[in-house]
Amino acid sequence: MSLNGMVALVTGGAQGIGRAVVHSLMQSSVKVAILDMNQSCGEKCKEELDLEFGEGNCTFTVCDVSNGDALRAGGAVPWTALAWVPRGLCALVWSVLSVQVGVVSVAVPPVVMDRGLARPDAFQRTVDTFGQLDIVINNAGINNEKNWGKTIEVNLTSVIRGTYLALEHMSREHGKGGGIIINVSSMAAFFHSPHQPVYTATKHGVIGFTRAMADASAEGNYGVRINVVCPAFVNTALLRSVEREDNMGKFVKFKDDFKSRMDKFGILEPSLIAEGMIRLIKDTSLNGAVMKITSSKGIHFHTYEPMSA
Ligand code: NAD
Repeated sequence: MSLNGMVALVTGGAQGIGRAVVHSLMQSSVKVAILDMNQSCGEKCKEELDLEFGEGNCTFTVCDVSNGDALRAGGAVPWTALAWVPRGLCALVWSVLSVQVGVVSVAVPPVVMDRGLARPDAFQRTVDTFGQLDIVINNAGINNEKNWGKTIEVNLTSVIRGTYLALEHMSREHGKGGGIIINVSSMAAFFHSPHQPVYTATKHGVIGFTRAMADASAEGNYGVRINVVCPAFVNTALLRSVEREDNMGKFVKFKDDFKSRMDKFGILEPSLIAEGMIRLIKDTSLNGAVMKITSSKGIHFHTYEPMSA
């Protein structure tokens, strides 16, 4: 299956595993929309990709995927009603209002200049820019046990939201032509660790959600294949955050246990995870597949017992 001419959207694509899969996709002549909350990293990433593959083959949008409005808006604030208002008029109205309410500064916030949600959602913008959307990779993730609510929002809620948005743009249910979704879980869903209980819970959730949605897609004839990838330890910034108290909170005291697991199981390179994802995209027989990637077995699949009463 050739990927030439397809269009992908990758969340958390500015570095680590996301960056690796963006690169592999572009090597296969896929055009890619990168969403990431790290502006400097994303801009640098786009610059490098433009140099390697030529301009016009990828876009970068600053976007916190845990902010539902921002994901829809591609990073802006919800002012849809301003869509038709010219930028100059927006700035003038803002300045007058600022003076009226006694605000000293009349500096025009960028959101007003951008006219906020005047921009369509990040997914729609991808379609507007590249003409279609075929592949969505819900990859953005964090490992923060201290702010565990945020970990649930980014790792699980945003994956659910990203999947639903992707379906709006790809499913036959919505009159679209089909596509492929990959959600990123972790081997943490199979080997639980005292070091990261909430991270582990979110990664379990991603597998359960993805398998159920894959069934819904098959039974509902959505024309969208939905699979999940579960990497073991990968050499990225996220892995390096496990020793920090501001990330791990009280569980940081279990870091030696965690590090000894890394020594035992080894650390993978992001390019291998990208290779697994490309396989999930190309193998048209796969829907609801749970791909595991480990040092000892490489790329392989988890098998489940058939359901029995
Ligand atoms: P990373 O920290 O290198 O990259 C994650 C990217 O996501 C960053 O660019 C970051 O800015 C972005 N991001 C984080 N929160 C975001 C948000 N709210 N909105 C938008 N972007 C956001 O980490 P990584 O290791 O490449 O992780 C990618 C995925 O792989 C995550 O889901 C992670 O849980 C999973 N994973 C990682 C490992 C590992 O050992 N590194 C193992 C298994 C699974």
